[in-house]
Amino acid sequence: MLQLFIPLGFLGIVYRQIKYALADMDLVFKLLERRPEIEDQPEAQPLVLHEGAIRFEQVDFHYQPERPILHGIDFAIEPGQKLAVVGHSGAGKSTLSRLLFRFYEVTGGRILIDGQDVREVTQESLRAAIGIVPQDTVLFNESIHYNLAYGRPDATRAEIERAAEMAHIRTFIESLPDGWNTVVGERGLKLSGGEKQRVAIARAILKRPRILIFDEATSSLDSHTEQAIQQTLAEVAENHTTLVIAHRLSTVVDADRILVLEQGRIREQGRHRELLEAGGHYAAMWELQQREGADASPGA
Ligand code: ATP
Repeated sequence: MLQLFIPLGFLGIVYRQIKYALADMDLVFKLLERRPEIEDQPEAQPLVLHEGAIRFEQVDFHYQPERPILHGIDFAIEPGQKLAVVGHSGAGKSTLSRLLFRFYEVTGGRILIDGQDVREVTQESLRAAIGIVPQDTVLFNESIHYNLAYGRPDATRAEIERAAEMAHIRTFIESLPDGWNTVVGERGLKLSGGEKQRVAIARAILKRPRILIFDEATSSLDSHTEQAIQQTLAEVAENHTTLVIAHRLSTVVDADRILVLEQGRIREQGRHRELLEAGGHYAAMWELQQREGADASPGA
């Protein structure tokens, strides 16, 4: 009987390790099975991070050759700055973050981090440098402690508690009857959209990446929760180079630069005020969202 238990236990360990290794890729984008295998180049070196400057140079991309998605995308994010990308659904916003993470290879141009082409560095070092708060956070059917620690499996209890505090979820966790041992996920306590995002933020804090990608949830949270999440993210993003894929323009008002993407091309770019004054596409989107917001507000 014992002989049977040992291999099962071993399999359990292997399974957990694979889960740790793959979850960033597999669960964040849920596209693993559809993407071509990307391998390190034989001479790939670890990324040497300085300040976390990002540069897209004339980037073209398609998933299938017959359907180009991005055309000549050219922009830079200075170290510590926040760049927001807005545009209609399907414009190619999330694709930009997938390319930065090198889930796919660019089909033209290049992407540089601190001057190094993402194709020429090891994927492990690249992914260690980037933290992602995805649109939809996937939770494991494990304790909430496990789910947070997943951001960095070797984190100490004190570090996990501190990350939870910074993500404003510690009080919530500690108010649960089973506290940090509460099982969450499909078979456990179901967390709300806002709570799940806080788990993702805490994971990103634990990972301590130089670069942060925030892929805003498409499904809207209630406005109070949304504001609270925005506030938390603004705190966490300080001193990180941040790429925000935004669905609501209220998120981008404080960005150092906003790109308006349309059908895979940069149509406008600038700060919120500049874009409003330009009176173009962004200004029209802003006007529309303001009106929708007013219509949705109580008493309107
Ligand atoms: P949303 O605001 O709805 O999240 P988005 O601007 O982020 O949209 P992307 O997810 O970047 O858009 O998708 C851009 C285009 O690429 C879409 O037309 C989409 O259908 C297509 N696309 C995305 N992923 C794949 C894939 N794995 N294979 C083929 N086409 C894809």
